[in-house]
Amino acid sequence: MADGARLESYDVAIVGAGFSGLYMLHRLRTLGLTARVYEAGPSVGGTWYWNRYPGARVDIESQEYCYSFSSELDAEWQWSERYAAQPELLRYLNHVADRFALRSGIQLETRVTAAIYDDAARRWTVTTDQDEQISARHVVMATGCLSVAKEPDMPGAESFSGRSYHTHRWPEGVDFAGQRVAVIGTGSSAIQAIPQIATQAAHLTIFQRTPNFSVPAHNHPTDPQIAADWANNRAQYRREARDAGFAIRAVQQREDVALEAAPEQRTAAFEERWARGGFSLLGAYSDLIFSKDANDTAVQFVADKIRGTVKDPVTAEKLIPKTYPIGSKRICVDTGYYETFNRPNVSLVDLTDTPITAITPTGVRTTAGEQAFDAIVYAIGFDAMTGALSKIGIRGRGGARLSDSWAEGPKSYLGLMVAGFPNLFIVTGPGSPSVLSNMAVSIEQHVEWISDCIAWMGQRQAGAIEATEEAQEMWVAHVNEVADLTVYPQANSWYMGANVPGKPRVFMPYIGGFPAYRDKCAEVAAKGYEGFAVTADGRA
Ligand code: FAD
Ligand code: NAP
Repeated sequence: MADGARLESYDVAIVGAGFSGLYMLHRLRTLGLTARVYEAGPSVGGTWYWNRYPGARVDIESQEYCYSFSSELDAEWQWSERYAAQPELLRYLNHVADRFALRSGIQLETRVTAAIYDDAARRWTVTTDQDEQISARHVVMATGCLSVAKEPDMPGAESFSGRSYHTHRWPEGVDFAGQRVAVIGTGSSAIQAIPQIATQAAHLTIFQRTPNFSVPAHNHPTDPQIAADWANNRAQYRREARDAGFAIRAVQQREDVALEAAPEQRTAAFEERWARGGFSLLGAYSDLIFSKDANDTAVQFVADKIRGTVKDPVTAEKLIPKTYPIGSKRICVDTGYYETFNRPNVSLVDLTDTPITAITPTGVRTTAGEQAFDAIVYAIGFDAMTGALSKIGIRGRGGARLSDSWAEGPKSYLGLMVAGFPNLFIVTGPGSPSVLSNMAVSIEQHVEWISDCIAWMGQRQAGAIEATEEAQEMWVAHVNEVADLTVYPQANSWYMGANVPGKPRVFMPYIGGFPAYRDKCAEVAAKGYEGFAVTADGRA
């Protein structure tokens, strides 16, 4: 610790002030515990503060993608659209921070750089980049699954003399009018931004390495009848969401099997889901994520939709994913994405034929030649699920480094705790449903489990709780076993760590479904935190 550095002491240090960190602080305060949130950014909101690119909006209906812990909050907040856009989500999270008087417990512009466990004291020492150290009994990593953006790794990226933007760090007041714009990437972020940028730019060129499946959002202003229906039946609808595999009520998962349906029946079922919009397509049949043949029927349906929308057949073929099952990467939910390719000012470069070789001072060079641009938008994704944790020097019992424990891929018990790292909790960590679910639901479940666990420890004057190696090994094996029953591991996705060179290829989230996972967590707690070693300790 540097001379003059401040030292503060709390029951719990929370890292991150997004959906997770805000609710964590609120819950811990209601338990009478002292807690402080450290947030690297200048605002609360997490994902919804950082990702301010044009078109950014939620991919799950707003009525479902929000907190459920306060009926007062529900009653006073009205969503203006079926799928809220980023500014409204950020306003909502700011409202939550004010509504529950959370700001006094949040320290912004403070990055946590290290967290070191002292086995004798059974406390963590957390270090920030603001010359301070915090002593805390518990640390909650609410650092986000998608909070560390990948940086452009193409040679020459820094030499570009025009403007460069990253969807994750979008500045105020960007205007592409009259400009030649390049977008690199075709994931969810790009697919939301491209239709908007196309309406401004003189010309927009999209550099696509792998096409993605996208389904229409059919977004619209909130229907007052639907809002009233939700207001009247909210508790029941929330229960239905929590009992749904992806914790998304609107998926309306059917039990029918695609391979047993006649082709015209299947088409009708998919058409009906396409007309509803969003992830409901995946709920049309129960075998879509388990059987490649069943999945192919949905792939063909979406391929035909793309062919029917994009007028140039060569471009249409390039936009159709052909190398992985639908759903094995998070499906994109768009507003006018495929239609954008019919605009005269939009063109597609397929990088499978002509990879990028360099960014030059004036544009983008591929093996086919160089194109000049005024602006480049990088929509190239995230070091997902482990990125934020790997940036913090986390050292557990005996000085063990988390980065060493996870060298071959992340291991955890229930995605909540890691053996060797007592009193360190992760919200929506690898090994939990997290990014395969409605994150708002998963976050609430994790925050409540963690706060209940901390309260339980307090009642017993327990000093430390830690996942056992045995329980962790069994859980990791189960996570892999369940993933292997599905088509998910067949894609080179960020779920697998495949988008970051050198990252171990391990399927990180838990695909066993939110209800089964929630029940397992509840059972573990009911059995006195089965699979965890709890150490009694009266020391303060
Ligand atoms: P985040 O919102 O990521 O917040 C984590 C915070 O921790 C960040 O503010 C970060 O600055 C801070 N932090 C990280 N490391 C440190 C450190 N060392 N020190 C201090 N602070 C730190 N999920 C859905 O279910 N539906 C969606 O529609 C959806 N849309 C998304 C759109 C985008 C563009 C992205 C990137 C993700 C989306 N997600 C969506 C996932 C989304 O991340 C979650 O839904 C949710 O917002 C995560 O909340 P969180 O608080 O756990 O993490
Ligand atoms: P992403 O899905 O990882 O997409 C990144 C894109 O960039 C991919 O097309 C990738 O191609 C491409 N790319 C990466 N590096 C490249 C390189 N060096 N050269 C060329 N292309 C490159 O990232 P994202 O779009 O930000 O989305 C991440 C996740 O955030 C989503 O899956 C979703 O969970 C969430 N999200 C949700 C929404 C929403 O709708 N609410 C919006 C945005 C994000 P490859 O596929 O070939 O690697």
